[in-house]
Amino acid sequence: MDSDPSISSEEPKVKRSFDQMVFVNRSVTLENIQCYGFDMDYTMAIYKSPDYESLGFELIRDRMVSVGYPHELLRYTYDPSFPTRGLVIDTNFGNLLKVDSNGNVLVCSHGFHFLKGEDVHQYYPKKFIQRDDTDRFYILNTLYNLSETYFYTCLVDFFTRCTRYTNLLKGFQHGDLFMSYRSMFQDARDAMDFLHDSGILKDRTIKNLEKYVIKEPNLPVLLTRIKMVAKVFLATNSDYNYTEAIMKYLLENNLKSGSQKKPWRSYFDLIVVDTRKPLFFAEGTVLRQVDTDTGKLRIGTYTGDLQHGTVYSGGSSDIICDLLDVRGKDILYVGDHIFGDILKSKKRQGWKTFLVVPELIKELQVWDEKKSLFEELKCLDIFLAELYKHLDSGSQEVLDIQAIQTRMKVLTYRMDTSYGQMGSLLRSGARQTLFASQLMRYADLYSSTCINLLHYPFNYLFMAPPVLVSPLTHPRIRMRLHRKPIRVHS
Ligand code: IMP
Ligand code: MG
Repeated sequence: MDSDPSISSEEPKVKRSFDQMVFVNRSVTLENIQCYGFDMDYTMAIYKSPDYESLGFELIRDRMVSVGYPHELLRYTYDPSFPTRGLVIDTNFGNLLKVDSNGNVLVCSHGFHFLKGEDVHQYYPKKFIQRDDTDRFYILNTLYNLSETYFYTCLVDFFTRCTRYTNLLKGFQHGDLFMSYRSMFQDARDAMDFLHDSGILKDRTIKNLEKYVIKEPNLPVLLTRIKMVAKVFLATNSDYNYTEAIMKYLLENNLKSGSQKKPWRSYFDLIVVDTRKPLFFAEGTVLRQVDTDTGKLRIGTYTGDLQHGTVYSGGSSDIICDLLDVRGKDILYVGDHIFGDILKSKKRQGWKTFLVVPELIKELQVWDEKKSLFEELKCLDIFLAELYKHLDSGSQEVLDIQAIQTRMKVLTYRMDTSYGQMGSLLRSGARQTLFASQLMRYADLYSSTCINLLHYPFNYLFMAPPVLVSPLTHPRIRMRLHRKPIRVHS
């Protein structure tokens, strides 16, 4: 049990520590889940931070220099304290933005220079962006994007400060050459695609798995236990050879003493590689069989029944349901990509979703350490409410609240910078980020790692907190609201 229901004090006695908890946005009855699906990269295979981001950064930097960008860029090295996931690049003006769910700008930087009030207004007169304009605004949704986020910041920093280039509103002039922020972004994006598609990043990872991939000893335990109660599948955008190398490392070379070694493929009822999510959750692609001896694809579309031990390539979520004979609502899909894994599987297929957010550990730790700042922010909010308590629309009185507002700004800034230069993944002061709002909307469950499922019985009811409307709270506060766990069976 999570806590002793007989204890009714403010702080319940919780057996699980925060970093072991699964948080709930919408209730999920585990007992009804007949099938568990897992993404691989950053879900089962968690890459070591900051080594992996540093590798990505160095590869993208070197690639950009090799296609003609200035050699001076080689002086930059990755700084993990700068980027946060979920930021938005404005490809028109080269700014990096942190926005809320409506597109209101919370933080804005140009290179490493953070813009304040008036400067932000000059770029964004209403401090607002039309984030649906995906042609202009690019959301850095995945942990893979961290190195790219930082590299783009370095690019803007370099060209802004380099005296050879003239700064213009939408880019830089050098002699008769104009280089727009947009073309720089596109070049960096192409370089990143190249690193992934050419296999350079994957080769470097496989050559040094110990350095780049966390060997989680409990992953074989989790998969073994799940397979005893439900079907299990793996659906990854990675290719077969890479999947084989990673899963062997995680499941075959990673056993607790006394455990029996078995082939990694035997942990799953179905394995699908090259899934091309998010397309996979819509029309998908042709389903092929993979020749596991050569890694090559068999020609023709696979039309037979599910064959155990066979690896498939491509396909779609509908095909998965047919092969496994399960309905979408009976699937719990565990992934790290808020858009490609979670939003699409929920919106298009109605799957139950579990978002892996490795950053939660740091978020909860900072939250705990800086509780006093948040408490003070809350007190000021209450104080403001008190001030206005006796006023209504007929009042003429004008209250001077400038000092309170200034203090609130200071507290917000101090809280934000405790997480890193770009602040928290989930908030800016008391305001929720776009990432946080999508997490609440599309992830039924979320946790820092999928391994935390081990801490709950397979008949557990993850109960959503009772709320009038979506509350603006931190996971910890939400957790307090639903702290009383319910067991379906005794
Ligand atoms: P999954 O998370 O297991 O579905 O796999 C993620 C796959 O997407 C990996 O093979 C990555 O190399 C690939 N990937 C991640 N980011 C990019 C990108 O920006 N361009 C191309 N491929 C990417
Ligand atoms: Mg992934």
